[in-house]
Amino acid sequence: MIYLDAAATSAVRREVLEAMWPYLTGDFGNPSSHHTVGESAARALADARATVAEWLGCRPSDVVFTSGGTEADNLAVKGIALATPRGRHIVTTPIEHEAVLESVDYLRRLHGFEVTFVDVDGTGLVDPSDFAAALREDTTLATVMLANNEIGTVQPVAELAAIAHERRIPFHTDAVQAAGWLDLGSAALGVDALSISGHKLGAPKGIGALFVRGRIPVEPVIHGGGQERGRRSGTENVAGAVGLAAAIRLGEDGRHSRAETTAAARDAFVTAVLARVPQAALTGHPVRRLPASASFVFPGTSGESVLLELERRGIVSSSGSACAAGSGEASHVLLALRFEEEIAQTAVRFSWGPEVGAPELAAVADAVGEAVETVAAITQ
Ligand code: PLP
Repeated sequence: MIYLDAAATSAVRREVLEAMWPYLTGDFGNPSSHHTVGESAARALADARATVAEWLGCRPSDVVFTSGGTEADNLAVKGIALATPRGRHIVTTPIEHEAVLESVDYLRRLHGFEVTFVDVDGTGLVDPSDFAAALREDTTLATVMLANNEIGTVQPVAELAAIAHERRIPFHTDAVQAAGWLDLGSAALGVDALSISGHKLGAPKGIGALFVRGRIPVEPVIHGGGQERGRRSGTENVAGAVGLAAAIRLGEDGRHSRAETTAAARDAFVTAVLARVPQAALTGHPVRRLPASASFVFPGTSGESVLLELERRGIVSSSGSACAAGSGEASHVLLALRFEEEIAQTAVRFSWGPEVGAPELAAVADAVGEAVETVAAITQ
């Protein structure tokens, strides 16, 4: 089997599991407990927090561990918007993950916020001047993802954050898909808040983090015992946090050269698919994109049927985001890129981890050609 759905989730790496093991067994303490077992867990949690902070170029106290990317996005959007008295207006894009879009919609429905969606172009890029024009005196928060989970387009987040800051508006970015591939140093990006998720990086599902700059007030979404400096209550997932830190360390080792090699293999894959399937089109930006992801539309087919044909050939991929897969609805991302609904239904996304190299991708390109031919013949 060739697994090409890494944007949905990835396997836990052996080294990550080994790092976690002691905190699931002998060192199982609650970090809030005032005895040696609890203190050992608290130390492990502090070390994990320090690793995340170093990676993001922020202070350990600016890292809030969460249950994953969805919770980090909810905390950033609802937490910052509700804690900031400046107004009730949010600026975002129509191609954000549902975790952001639904949080924004919650603020609109229950708290009377207004929302401005900055349009993207046909490649999924936000134009910084459109973004600037959308900001208002009463804008409470701007949130624009770093890399899109369906089309892989990478936004000019540092530039957008700088524009927001000129107006003193807090800026959040969802970096769930970018983590492990792009440099997330928040100093470089200049954002105020940034979400990540462990299971996209080789850590388990159920752990993530939100970086939120100390001076930005955040209203908690989960209330209780006041853990995570009152920003996220609930006994911390110590083993998960240790696993996240281990996955980050492993991922940073050789990241730059791995990203370059992977991007070269991706370009060869895209060229091979387009040669095999002349009617296909790559979605997203041709250059500003994640190294290990390529999504296509295959007019004259149905994406779901192509997926099935590929699976028969031992290749696992996806029709878009895992959330929308199987819903039968066209992707909101492709519709925002102004694809016709009928064409958007033919999308297939390939996303992979470091274990997939150029030889596997060459075999996948051949299989894509066969699968599309088979489906097109049946459809006609
Ligand atoms: N944001 C993006 C861009 C994602 O791709 C995902 C997951 O696919 C999430 C947020 C949600 O992360 P999690 O699955 O950890 O809740």
